[in-house]
Amino acid sequence: MRNFFSLRKYICVLAILAAILAIPLTQVHALDDTEAFFRKKKDAHVPIIMYHLVTENSRYVGKFGIRPSELKADLKYLSDNNYNAIVIKDLLDFVENGKILPENPIVLTFDDGNTSDLNFLLPLLDEYNMKAVVSIIGQAADKNTKEQAENPTATYPNLTWSQITELHNSGKIELQSHGYNVHGPTGSGKLKKESQDTYHQRLKTDLKKLQDLFEKHLGYTPNTFCYPLGIISKGSQAVLEELGFKASLSCEEGMNIIQEGDTKSLFKLKRTNRPSGRSIETILNKLHK
Ligand SMILES: [Zn+2]
Repeated sequence: MRNFFSLRKYICVLAILAAILAIPLTQVHALDDTEAFFRKKKDAHVPIIMYHLVTENSRYVGKFGIRPSELKADLKYLSDNNYNAIVIKDLLDFVENGKILPENPIVLTFDDGNTSDLNFLLPLLDEYNMKAVVSIIGQAADKNTKEQAENPTATYPNLTWSQITELHNSGKIELQSHGYNVHGPTGSGKLKKESQDTYHQRLKTDLKKLQDLFEKHLGYTPNTFCYPLGIISKGSQAVLEELGFKASLSCEEGMNIIQEGDTKSLFKLKRTNRPSGRSIETILNKLHK
């Protein structure tokens, strides 16, 4: 019995010693957690500019077409004013991993995958050491790839898959999804008499088709969906999330305020159209007001 009591006493002493030793460790952990909890999460103001065609053809210069000299002037302005053109990957690194963005970040987006991205945009990005995001229409890329194979001397308005690969290999352009074949008048929106289930399945099949083509030609899956015509229906977000998209681009104009840790803030990102005759300086001055 005496042995039993002394053993119990011994265990008690050990337990007390262990508890004393454990206190500072627990406190350190608690402090770490508290610091992480109270550390102010960073946010970033990021303007996103929407471009389409870059062309010398006056017929197409207007709301969705600018001259190469206008694009050059934009990039020169950004360069002279210490803007840093970033891509969606940088925004994801910021939101998901807290990786600090460069000063004065801006995203330059080009829709539809026009050959002007190769002829005018890429050389200018090289000249000004900038990056851009180009959103591809899968059906147009397939069609032009097929037609160019049949008639190699003809010129086509949209990029072929080999040209898209060239843009990708430049390291200057991040290629993203504009859907496979949802670029008609209703965009990727739900049709009037379509059930929610049918819409879900139709959109999912379409976007998956282009994701598979990206895998085949470029070896990765796009993480950003650019809504054609900016038409957004209820239910599209669920499709994007199911397919693993991390961001989407809208046509709503305004400044984006992106919060570290808030993955939702990368969806429906606002973009401001850059028509011919309205310089990027004017657009940015208004956005920063
Ligand atoms: Zn488009």
